[in-house]
Amino acid sequence: GPVLEFRDVWFGYDPSRPVLRGISFAVPSRGHIALVGPSGAGKSTIFALAERFYEPDRGAVLLNGRDVRFTPYDRHRAAVGLVEQDCPLLAGSLRENLLYGAGPAVSESELSRVLAMTGLTGVVAALPRGLDTPVGERGRQLSGGQRQRVAIARCLLARPRVILLDEPTAHLDADSERALAVALREVAAVCALVVIAHRFSTVRSADRVLVIEGGVVAAEGTHEELLHVD
Ligand code: ADP
Ligand code: ADP
Repeated sequence: GPVLEFRDVWFGYDPSRPVLRGISFAVPSRGHIALVGPSGAGKSTIFALAERFYEPDRGAVLLNGRDVRFTPYDRHRAAVGLVEQDCPLLAGSLRENLLYGAGPAVSESELSRVLAMTGLTGVVAALPRGLDTPVGERGRQLSGGQRQRVAIARCLLARPRVILLDEPTAHLDADSERALAVALREVAAVCALVVIAHRFSTVRSADRVLVIEGGVVAAEGTHEELLHVD
């Protein structure tokens, strides 16, 4: 069954003015779903409910088929990884950034595998001190696209069931955009991935696209199918 499901979810920051108006969708345990739609449509609010920052006013969010309101909060948060839009890095080394929140159980081989999946193997090799290079605000060793892939790698190393990624709107060069597309494909092969997609390339490479408008799922299908919808 789906790893994450919204069933007729209604929610308003002010309950008398609903922002989500009956959102339903299911996220399979593997693959890449893109959320697209205009600013203010409710995409970030969907993430906030998936993260359990808020509870639905009506309807339910399910994780592995169970209503999340009966799941311990910590357990839920461990299962749902979030990659924020600005991908903040800590003021430590790249290794510390990658292992933050992952605990000591991560082996070097798992770390290598995740670096490869996210296209960071060569990036690490090119850094002056490899994984021990400081990469926080002061470090300025990594480009925006690389920071985003570090944030994805960090998220993966915590072994969530689903990763939510709010893609930055900032312009990435063509190489970074390609590297991100490859990383998302690799991640979606092992984990469920839901991306608020700002880039056309990400929408195009998603397995399914949900168009969110005015707090409802206005259309759903493959990118190809949606090209034929008004
Ligand atoms: P999107 O991510 O699609 O741009 P959002 O989910 O951020 O849309 O916003 C949906 C609506 O909810 C907008 O009208 C927005 O102003 C409102 N909204 C978002 N976050 C908050 C908040 N924390 N408090 C009150 N209103 C909010
Ligand atoms: P695992 O992921 O290790 O297989 P389970 O999903 O079997 O763990 O859940 C472990 C325990 O937590 C079970 O006793 C299960 O009933 C309980 N549990 C987990 N999530 C929920 C939920 N949403 N509602 C009720 N019980 C839950």
